[in-house]
Amino acid sequence: MSRTLCFTCQRPQKACICAFSVEIKNNIHVVVLQHPSEVSQTKGTITLLAKSLQFCQVIVGESFDDEAYFLKVMEQYQAVLLYPGEKAQTLTQNLVVQLTKLDQNAEKSRVNAKFKPLCLVILDGTWKKAYRMFMLSQTLQQLPQICLPEHLANAGKYHIRKVAKKNALSSLEASCYALALLEAASDFDDISADQAGKYQPLLNKFQAFNQFQLSFRP
Ligand SMILES: [Zn+2]
Repeated sequence: MSRTLCFTCQRPQKACICAFSVEIKNNIHVVVLQHPSEVSQTKGTITLLAKSLQFCQVIVGESFDDEAYFLKVMEQYQAVLLYPGEKAQTLTQNLVVQLTKLDQNAEKSRVNAKFKPLCLVILDGTWKKAYRMFMLSQTLQQLPQICLPEHLANAGKYHIRKVAKKNALSSLEASCYALALLEAASDFDDISADQAGKYQPLLNKFQAFNQFQLSFRP
């Protein structure tokens, strides 16, 4: 079988995902912390996300307290962790206003180190792996945690992989919804599972992408 790789997405040409990517200029920077065991997963969900978002970085690892690049990001940004932990606050309009106020102040006063632009940190791995990454990293535990409101958390259309818990979205879906909410202004209440603003085209493509992946199954 031919092992020719696509120049752009580095995947076998038969499984090239380039046709599913959408160019989106996200305002809020995204950092994906990817568990090493996810890298070999051939689905390419995170590749699709990273390829579509203009500002998205993927760091592979399990424990991040000594990860130089990650720590640098933590210095530069005001990071929030998308993680449904005990301390997670549901993304409401009030919370978004609070978070983005800091973000706007950052724009105004770049010299003032107290104000930093927002950055969304997500963990890519199974629930068990994500929990492990969280427990292994003090730095992650200290970040403010946010989670999606119920109507979005249950909106998952992802059916490639067995999901351990009911409201388990794929990392791509969760990121899109969180970004749509964080970047929403007066239209916060209009964000729904099928109306995720500029992220909706990627969510639509993601559905097609899932169908494409399923076509490889016997
Ligand atoms: Zn490709």
